[in-house]
Amino acid sequence: MHVPSIPHLTAEDPDLAALVEAEATRQHDKLRMIASENYVSEAVLEASSTVLTNKYSEGYAGRRYYEGQQLIDPIETLAVDRAKSLFGVDHANVQPYSGSPANLAVYLAFLQPGDTVMGMSLPMGGHLTHGWSVSATGKWFNPVRYAVDRETGRIDLDEVRDLARAERPKVIFCGGTAVPRTIDFPGFAAIAREVGAVLVADIAHIAGLIAGGAHPSPVGHADVITTTTHKTLRGPRGAMIMTTAEHATAIDKAVFPGLQGGPHNHTTAAIAVALREASTSEFRAYAHQVVANAAALAEALTERGFTLISGGTDNHLILADLTAKGIAGKPAAQALDRAGIELNYNTVPFDTRKPFDPSGIRLGTPALTTRGLTEQHMPQVAAWMDEAVTAALKDDEASIERIAGEVRDLLAGFPMPGYRAA
Ligand SMILES: *Cc1c(COP(=O)(O)O)cnc(C)c1O
Repeated sequence: MHVPSIPHLTAEDPDLAALVEAEATRQHDKLRMIASENYVSEAVLEASSTVLTNKYSEGYAGRRYYEGQQLIDPIETLAVDRAKSLFGVDHANVQPYSGSPANLAVYLAFLQPGDTVMGMSLPMGGHLTHGWSVSATGKWFNPVRYAVDRETGRIDLDEVRDLARAERPKVIFCGGTAVPRTIDFPGFAAIAREVGAVLVADIAHIAGLIAGGAHPSPVGHADVITTTTHKTLRGPRGAMIMTTAEHATAIDKAVFPGLQGGPHNHTTAAIAVALREASTSEFRAYAHQVVANAAALAEALTERGFTLISGGTDNHLILADLTAKGIAGKPAAQALDRAGIELNYNTVPFDTRKPFDPSGIRLGTPALTTRGLTEQHMPQVAAWMDEAVTAALKDDEASIERIAGEVRDLLAGFPMPGYRAA
């Protein structure tokens, strides 16, 4: 059963309610290992489904374009103050609708169309909004892209520096969606300073690890920090932009009125709740456990013959090249999904296959850590993954079904926020 319960939805719209209930059960029964996903707390769920959704509040606290902000102002101020104190930043904007619009606001704040922006190439682990060709950021600006080293699978800062010196970007993005290693924020900051670029740390994936002290912080190195709130940070779907005092006004103007209209106040409230949770000792323990689980899983997968990009992981994320297993990423991901293990197919650096049918899979430990799994469970997870991939190659659906049942049995002992067995 969904928690909070949904009796009014069930009475008014049983078709939709049934789909929501089924999704809650699905999330309960599967080992969710999509690296960007998580389970939010029931407090966050409650905050995001409040009457705050009814209110328009274009502008910022104390400077709004509509009346009736007596309670919205303190709610947004709470979220902003909690972000500032959790991350130790001068300024935070909690209004971006999601990570991609947050990054667009950075372009609007610092660049003119046609200006040069530097980011990690998408197939190397960057994000669409760091200047990839199909994104508005790649169409309307002049993108230059860095890669990872072919041998080490890691970013080579000497290459980044050479490219920056040659191309003189106005903005440099660091951070990405498939980066299993620690981001060297001081190293990027030195390069940005040398070429006079604004350094943007996009910490969407690792914000929770940073808040929990399990990854170095970009604060004091990056001029601007963008993040989603719904990945390791374990808040509602949304985003934040944090800046030094110097860039606060430019970013605020870019978000509103530059790019957006009214903020999603119910989301702002849920962000405030998540940020309070992220300041607790329980959250610090969770963040360190996410990393410990990923390390244990990487070791167990390596023992079973999986090839990990960069040879392992420093954070929550693992990128594996399945070529040696004799299977492509997509059929593997689909078989694993049938086996109750949810992850995504992904390009690997220097992939010889096409982006829609690449060689790799990407997986992460945030959601299973929230469920309470620890290092001791990771050898079993790796064993299931290995068996499911082998079964897929033999069209052995019986084994895949058996694994799905075993996954369900294990997870029955680990309650999911947002769901209670009926
Ligand atoms: C997820 C992600 C984004 C985009 O977030 P959306 O909320 O999906 O728009 C941006 N940058 C990075 C590095 C991400 O991982």
